[in-house]
Amino acid sequence: MTARLDGKIAIVSGGGRGMGVAHARALVREGARVVSFDIHAGEGPALMDELGEERFSFLSGDVTGAADWDTVVAHCRERFGGPNVLVNNAGISPVHALESVSEAEYRKVVDINQVGTFLGMRAVVPWLREARGGSIVNIASTAAHVGFADLFSYVASKWAVRGMTKAAALELARFGIRVNTVCPGDTDTPMLRAVAGASGDAVPPPEELPMGRWARPEEISAVVVFLASDESSYISGSDLVVDGAFTAQ
Ligand code: NAD
Repeated sequence: MTARLDGKIAIVSGGGRGMGVAHARALVREGARVVSFDIHAGEGPALMDELGEERFSFLSGDVTGAADWDTVVAHCRERFGGPNVLVNNAGISPVHALESVSEAEYRKVVDINQVGTFLGMRAVVPWLREARGGSIVNIASTAAHVGFADLFSYVASKWAVRGMTKAAALELARFGIRVNTVCPGDTDTPMLRAVAGASGDAVPPPEELPMGRWARPEEISAVVVFLASDESSYISGSDLVVDGAFTAQ
């Protein structure tokens, strides 16, 4: 039986913990070969042992550095071949209010969440074009659809990711390259636990959510797999909101 992601070669950013780990696992399980990277090694090395070096490779890298993206793409080409899937997953979500956030703190969030996503797309597009198609999955958020108090810089950066996604989808459609966002709601990762611990306003208690619970990382990875696969061959420029009806309110 053919796996859903046979022949797919994916790069995942922010693969050291949280959803990046879940995305890499799910992509490999469905037949892809995956290179993931992170500024902090975290669970990355252990994941290499778990998934095996024929299917998975982890390295250190910073999404804000164009040279790091070149290194990751070169590593991917050498190990598995040119990438045809990119999951721009790395991000940070410090608790920032408009009146108190410093310019440096604001710029750091934009640099990682927004500029990092741009640099990733720019680095892989030549290889997606060479492959005559591919899929870019940018991880945005429900914070790209509504505002959240105390997440000022994060909300700004995630709305930008949605905008970049739509512009890129239009530019790249003629090359068979699809570009979409996945917009998770509250998902149980170290990031969410840190935000929930820091501010009562930014993250409501899970029992107040429509489904009465946070998402599990695997529930977001299932949508990433779908967008990476040819099952979503006519979906581009879209936002797949995975929030248990939070933004339906
Ligand atoms: P997380 O903090 O648990 O993991 C994020 C990973 O990104 C970390 O391993 C971190 O080291 C890495 N990273 C940060 N800066 C980096 C850089 N400059 N270069 C490379 N890697 C870097 O977070 P998560 O919850 O798994 O979030 C993953 C993505 O999902 C993020 O883009 C986040 O904004 C988004 N998201 C999360 C939630 C949630 O509730 N957890 C909801 C919506 C969207």
